[in-house]
Amino acid sequence: MGTFLFSEIIFGPVSSRRLGVSLGINLLPTDYKFCTFNCVYCECGWTLKSHKKIQLPSQEEVKQQLEIVLKDYALKGKEINSITFAGNGEPTIHPQFAEIIDDTIQLRNQWMPQAKISVLSNASQLNKEKVTSALTRIDQNILKLDAGTEKTFKLINKAQENLTFDKITAYLKSFNGDVIIQTLFLKGEVDGEKFDNTNSEEIEAWLQLLKEIKPVKVMVYSIERDTPSDNLEIIKPDALKKIANKVEKLGFLTEVY
Ligand code: SF4
Repeated sequence: MGTFLFSEIIFGPVSSRRLGVSLGINLLPTDYKFCTFNCVYCECGWTLKSHKKIQLPSQEEVKQQLEIVLKDYALKGKEINSITFAGNGEPTIHPQFAEIIDDTIQLRNQWMPQAKISVLSNASQLNKEKVTSALTRIDQNILKLDAGTEKTFKLINKAQENLTFDKITAYLKSFNGDVIIQTLFLKGEVDGEKFDNTNSEEIEAWLQLLKEIKPVKVMVYSIERDTPSDNLEIIKPDALKKIANKVEKLGFLTEVY
């Protein structure tokens, strides 16, 4: 299927179901995906093993380009709801991620004070205190949890070997609730093995993890764009709503997209 890459550091704004008018920031290379996960549904395609020298934008480049766009929008009276770190892979991999967050907060306050700063992350870099601390300074710390069990986590997210499910879930719990959880529900087959993160065993385990993470919000959704794997099945809105009802019964704000 036709996955795609973002060709700019600053992209959009796009109309996002979850974030409204969203101006994207891509801290990753513009010609290939760079991530610690290899999710079967990733809209950027498979994570390829590359021997190329990784080219990431500098802190200064990101700051300059962001200021140009924010200033232009502000002077034209156009609104942006979210300045969103996403792009071609995992944004927190960037070695100056924390400093770039601080630049973004300063530029947002100056030019677009009503905009929220959002980070979409797979939580894999939360062994770095600088990254964790930066995520506590933004408005929407949106972290991925696509499974209730290690087996399904491995099949769906295909994370680097050192990133175990226990490690990732411990990182999510470490925010003491100052986190939004995003979960993509799907069924399919990968490497000859079937998975379904909507079956009762998975949902029960996932709900138990939510009780321990205590998120401010849970975002529930399914595949919406092209995926690198063809063997995937979208979960219908009615089934997503049933899952969301279970989360709401635990007392967590839940949004279905
Ligand atoms: S964590 Fe995000 S960028 Fe990385 S493979 Fe998964 S969906 Fe793609």
